[in-house]
Amino acid sequence: MRKLKLAVLILFCLSFLSFPNWSITSAKSTTKKSSSIPSNQWKITGTVKGTGDVSKKFSIRPSNLKALKMGEDMKFEIKSTDKQLIYTLKIPVKKDSKKAEMFQYISSGEEEAGYFRVENQTYDAEKNLITAEVKGGGTFIVVTQPETPKSIQSLSPKTSAPSSKITSTPPAIFYLPHQDDETLSMGVAITQHLDAGREVIAVLYTDGAGSVAQRILNGEVGSSWWGGTHNPVTEGYNQIDNQKFSEARNNELKSALMQLGVKAENIHIRNLSEDGTLTLDELKTLVLEYEQKYPGASHKAMSQHDGSLSHALSGQALVDLYNQKGIVDARLYVSRNDWTRVTVGSIVTPNTDQAFRIKKAAFVYQAWNPAVESFAIGYHSVSPQFNSMLANIQNRQHTPAQ
Ligand SMILES: [Zn+2]
Repeated sequence: MRKLKLAVLILFCLSFLSFPNWSITSAKSTTKKSSSIPSNQWKITGTVKGTGDVSKKFSIRPSNLKALKMGEDMKFEIKSTDKQLIYTLKIPVKKDSKKAEMFQYISSGEEEAGYFRVENQTYDAEKNLITAEVKGGGTFIVVTQPETPKSIQSLSPKTSAPSSKITSTPPAIFYLPHQDDETLSMGVAITQHLDAGREVIAVLYTDGAGSVAQRILNGEVGSSWWGGTHNPVTEGYNQIDNQKFSEARNNELKSALMQLGVKAENIHIRNLSEDGTLTLDELKTLVLEYEQKYPGASHKAMSQHDGSLSHALSGQALVDLYNQKGIVDARLYVSRNDWTRVTVGSIVTPNTDQAFRIKKAAFVYQAWNPAVESFAIGYHSVSPQFNSMLANIQNRQHTPAQ
């Protein structure tokens, strides 16, 4: 018994002696470790770096995100319990892809919800391989473009209605991804075309659903612009479903465009995304439909360099059709959100009257009157972009070659 006690005592002392070893081991476990991406259906390889047992902190799996699909070739989710993990991914894409880009779904903060370009990525067109670095996981899609684009004939709408109007100059057609982009990023161009005597047609091509503003209005999240959290019950309005939300956004768009000077009959709500998909080919078909109706028209869209995928797709549609000689005049407009990143092209500045109309159009987006379904959706979703635009009312435009 005594021997046993002695042995326990010795072991106890030894454990103290070995304590410094423990601390060395624990120090090692907080240094950077790396792990490989496990095998997966997309054949994505790469490494994950972080602290601790990295391999147990993440998984890669199919995404069940029911957000607007945007012509993606693959969609996957990296589920990460550690937001500090750095993923270096090698993603094989379809053979013979001329262009391939990775986008991440972002739905929080002062952004409209949607897919945004992953900043740190390169594409090797020889190997058809994207190399990208992302932090903390998320839902990602990869969008590719084939080497040989589809022929214009195959994309043209089946019924070609010839132009009913005889106009001396063809119209300027602005393709809008969301109800606010016309005021935020194209207002100067729109007012200047109108003042030059051009007919301006505005074509909205998504329903604008999926914005964080819908959750803000339903009281699910707070709003820094509003200065608190809404309560539909005490504020006297019903929960806002997708349809009501889109209608309210369409009303903001119509009011804003009419403040700029666009005629009501020239505002076309097309909602290509009604079935939950939006692809480059669908947008090309839309543009060709307008080109058939108004031969020689000037086509205007958001820049193909924009971070937002729903913006960039219409820009890419114009660039491709211009290069294929399907349209003769195209201009691209850089989103307010991307002004510091995308610096190609030139700046257009309004005169006093044009700037005044753009200010009035921006005010539409902060009108609050739930009784007539006016919900200030523009400011609830992207107030910083409105503030930045009003502080410096200009547009950045570029040509298809830029
Ligand atoms: Zn937008």
